[in-house]
Amino acid sequence: MTSTFDFRPASRSEVPFLDLVTPHLELKEELVEVFRSALKTAGFIGGPMVEGFEDDFAKFCATNHCIGVGSGTDALRFALIAAGIGPGDIVVTVPNTFIATTEAISQLGAIPDFVDVLESTCNMDPEKLRQYLEDRCVEKSGRLYHREKDRPVAGVVPVHLYGRPVDMDPILDLARKYNLIVIEDACQAHGAEYFSKRENTWKRAGSMGVAAAFSFYPGKNLGACGEAGAVTTDDPALAARVRMLRDHGQAKKYYHDVEGWNGRLDAIQAGILQVKLKRLPEWNKKRSECAALYTELLGNVRGVTVPSVSSNVRPAWHLYVIQTDRRDALQKHLADSGVATGLHYPVPLHLQNSYRAMNLGTGSFPAAEAAASRILSLPMGPTLKKFQVERVSELIRRFF
Ligand SMILES: *Cc1c(COP(=O)(O)O)cnc(C)c1O
Repeated sequence: MTSTFDFRPASRSEVPFLDLVTPHLELKEELVEVFRSALKTAGFIGGPMVEGFEDDFAKFCATNHCIGVGSGTDALRFALIAAGIGPGDIVVTVPNTFIATTEAISQLGAIPDFVDVLESTCNMDPEKLRQYLEDRCVEKSGRLYHREKDRPVAGVVPVHLYGRPVDMDPILDLARKYNLIVIEDACQAHGAEYFSKRENTWKRAGSMGVAAAFSFYPGKNLGACGEAGAVTTDDPALAARVRMLRDHGQAKKYYHDVEGWNGRLDAIQAGILQVKLKRLPEWNKKRSECAALYTELLGNVRGVTVPSVSSNVRPAWHLYVIQTDRRDALQKHLADSGVATGLHYPVPLHLQNSYRAMNLGTGSFPAAEAAASRILSLPMGPTLKKFQVERVSELIRRFF
């Protein structure tokens, strides 16, 4: 598998999409110490490093429980199953997410379906969700059924895309009204915050749904040195089910209450994450400063739409994504000047070959489709320098 990232640290002339080398070099001694202590006890699976990280990350997300698992994809599957989503249930999400969101739904035998996003944020449009639930579904014996599919609608997975929180209040209101399970896909949103009018307080991503899934893929705001993920929740019973599922459905070794699989977080990754979590607030602050500078320098460029940030969100700035009608030409212009950019994501899920059977053609989700052709992710990361943001912005200004 090739890496999606450009691992080179910053140089004067080239701007990498994400510099993963520098943060690890800065923490090298502490990271090596994690290996040393794991070697001393050969405690590679479970144990105090996993529990320590779980405690720390639960605190960070302001949730009662965190369960470390093998990846963000595992976290989504465990959260959905443990929350009670089962085979044949419809789970509604958005088409412009990473495929792991819908894979997790399909793999447990449930049926993914989509509602469109807001053009301004690329996040789930609560009004579109309301229309879906009111116009396309009907209540039958206390449950909400999709009229055409004749299957119960059981859950919603809002995705905090690019680290920008979804407008959760109206979605949680609809979920309460129709008895839907809300699982947040917080895989891009470590530390993002949303002001909840319902609760009159700022809420961390991962603390708003029944449960949430996080990924610690190396390129995420908090990344392991390998694969890792976590489920966060306030529900002790749900947490206990995830703990069991991640370990082959056993609470006691070789006594299996249910079938699960091996979806554990290993001790070395947990120890590494514990070290890196201490730096996350500072890293997120750096990202936010870079985002503010991009917005200052690009906000008045004709032809460019900078990410909108309403006063009720504090994004984690996993990605800084602009929109323009001349996306492909701009991307080439930047690449020719040594600036690496990305597309998140080039093809909405309903138009992917893997979902051809859904029969959702072009035009099904106009906002998600328009975004796919206009989005461009600019270099972003905790070690991105001011001069690099200025250089990228200047190249963009000159292009327009
Ligand atoms: C990264 C990501 C995932 C999957 O996480 P993995 O750790 O790679 O399995 C799921 N959803 C979204 C939105 C992501 O960005």
